[in-house]
Amino acid sequence: MTTTAPNALNVECETGNYHTFCPISCVAWLYQKIEDSFFLVIGTKTCGYFLQNAMGVMIFAEPRYAMAELEEGDISAQLNDYEELKRLCLQIKRDRNPSVIVWIGTCTTEIIKMDLEGLAPKLEAEIGIPIVVARANGLDYAFTQGEDTVLAAMAARCPTPTAVTNTEERNPIQRLLNFGKKKEEVQAEASQYHDHPPLVLFGSLPDPVVTQLTLELKKQGIQVSGWLPSKRYTELPVVDEGYYVAGVNPFLSRTATTLMRRRKCNLINAPFPIGPDGTRAWVEALCTTFGIEPQGLAEREAQTWEKLADYLELVRGKSVFFMGDNLLEISLARFLIRCGMRVHEIGIPYMDKRYQAAELNLLSQTCAAMDHPLPTIVEKPDNYNQLQRIKALQPDLVITGMAHANPLEARGMSTKWSVEFTFAQIHGFGNARDILELVTRPLRRNQALAGLGWQQLV
Ligand code: SF4
Repeated sequence: MTTTAPNALNVECETGNYHTFCPISCVAWLYQKIEDSFFLVIGTKTCGYFLQNAMGVMIFAEPRYAMAELEEGDISAQLNDYEELKRLCLQIKRDRNPSVIVWIGTCTTEIIKMDLEGLAPKLEAEIGIPIVVARANGLDYAFTQGEDTVLAAMAARCPTPTAVTNTEERNPIQRLLNFGKKKEEVQAEASQYHDHPPLVLFGSLPDPVVTQLTLELKKQGIQVSGWLPSKRYTELPVVDEGYYVAGVNPFLSRTATTLMRRRKCNLINAPFPIGPDGTRAWVEALCTTFGIEPQGLAEREAQTWEKLADYLELVRGKSVFFMGDNLLEISLARFLIRCGMRVHEIGIPYMDKRYQAAELNLLSQTCAAMDHPLPTIVEKPDNYNQLQRIKALQPDLVITGMAHANPLEARGMSTKWSVEFTFAQIHGFGNARDILELVTRPLRRNQALAGLGWQQLV
């Protein structure tokens, strides 16, 4: 089925027969981000094997996650779900004493219809620890969408202003920025911000990137009231009707919907701060919403591009094919087109045209500016078909999962493993270089090994 979007981008939909990480993988980065959390994945050995392997060395660091492995007795309802979960959660409370336990529902809990949402409030009241339920299963979602389901569930737990006594206390990033300053200095600084309604950003990013983006907005006089998620569950940001919210990642559409519908917030639809072009457009969109004239952004973007000159030399004119598995594809493709690359196809697991509207617009504009034909977006791609297209097109670089990387390399194709983009720091002006570092790595290696004469080894 082919539909033509209003911005004339061609969006196709295939069979959904593609490789990606199961969304339960989000526990790997979320337990690290939310320091006082514990993630309990309620599933089978299949889920356990996946996590154990996907998380690599992290599993030897006593992670704050565990599997509640279902047995035959659970499936046939001979054991009592409530009692089993209570036993495990009490053990977690005793051993780790977390501020929140996140239950991750899996394929099995869906199929046997285990009522996690119904059990959680009862158990929460009994054991005295908040229990957040996220149904991040492979039946419904792909990879990074796991974070989306967790954050959507957490958005419902953000306190209202009336529920907290000291709102400053709830804003750890502001506390960090004010660290070591006298009261008068803090007050003087507060007056440098424009008078605008509270702004909460959502999306889990490493702490250094959170600081960078917060400071980027501070330069424009925009104050960030909080981040969802914060470093600790007990510091979830205050959210109230009329607050403004903006996403930092393209896969957070459910969180955005929850914040809009359930918490009555206003969503700022902006491209995502990936690449200098995206970061500038993101900051500009926030400024425009609050009626602020952006200061020095054009120069800031130009300086960043200048610093990338050596890498741009390497990528210019090269072609790239995104097989699609983590939902960052539109933003990355838009950035790479701006870098002078040619994009054959943008595969993507799920395309929310409303949440990504501004990003899609920027993609079309970038194509027009760079004289690049509008690339085809393939939602729910079919990896088998894609391999036939790759064979025909012979792109200079294929961005793909580990399942196809080595087989493609052996056929003389350069590949970049897509999962690295989700773990590397890629947001903001300062991290644009890191994206190109990743993209150019196979190209640089090819240069270094050129002339050895053994590219095709199948
Ligand atoms: S796809 Fe389903 S069964 Fe497989 S690891 Fe994910 S949740 Fe578990």
